[in-house]
Amino acid sequence: MSGVVLVDHPVLAHRVTQLRDRDTGGDTFRQLVSEVSGLLAYEALRDLGTTEVTVDTPVAPGAAGRRVSEVVLLVPILRAGLGMVQAIQEVVPLTEVAHVGLRRDEATLRSDVYLDRVPRNLSGRRVIVCDPMLATGGSLGQVCDLVVARGAAEVVALCIIASEPGLAAFRAAHPGVSVYCAAVDPGLNDVGYIVPGLGDAGDRLFGPPD
Ligand code: URA
Repeated sequence: MSGVVLVDHPVLAHRVTQLRDRDTGGDTFRQLVSEVSGLLAYEALRDLGTTEVTVDTPVAPGAAGRRVSEVVLLVPILRAGLGMVQAIQEVVPLTEVAHVGLRRDEATLRSDVYLDRVPRNLSGRRVIVCDPMLATGGSLGQVCDLVVARGAAEVVALCIIASEPGLAAFRAAHPGVSVYCAAVDPGLNDVGYIVPGLGDAGDRLFGPPD
């Protein structure tokens, strides 16, 4: 079932507060983005597909267990989504990764896809679109449209912080997509940053582009 899940947990709130802090340096910031992403993915994949198996333990044969059998496709939106991938892969067995890059065209004010590594046929697949900041929800929506158009059976958006207006617009346009996030902030400033937010997630993860 789709909806917005604000994962409200003290260990997440602790990390999001550190992420917000302007004095948190790059190495710690990267580590925190990873940890929060792994925890959000854990929460978002409670119904991950498994098959029943048996294993022989050192003291008894044929102990019943489950192995993950579903291959989840992670779609990080460049750049900042990249910071979420490794931690999710460490938590979730059997992932694949398909990168998507968007570039804002200042003339049309739309984002063009400049990199699209998403498989043409996603029928039956669960896709997790990764972007730490859901600001206006524009690029996230574009990428969700792309994976839905390729037949994804289920689409989940994983964000660390969402803005209230962006989340509302995104939900209205993509009612079938579930959103998992660790915080919802009240607004956006006049250059599109989430307030209070954490600043530019891409720059804090990877450094400014120039
Ligand atoms: N992207 C960011 O990195 N930060 C914001 O606040 C909004 C979009």
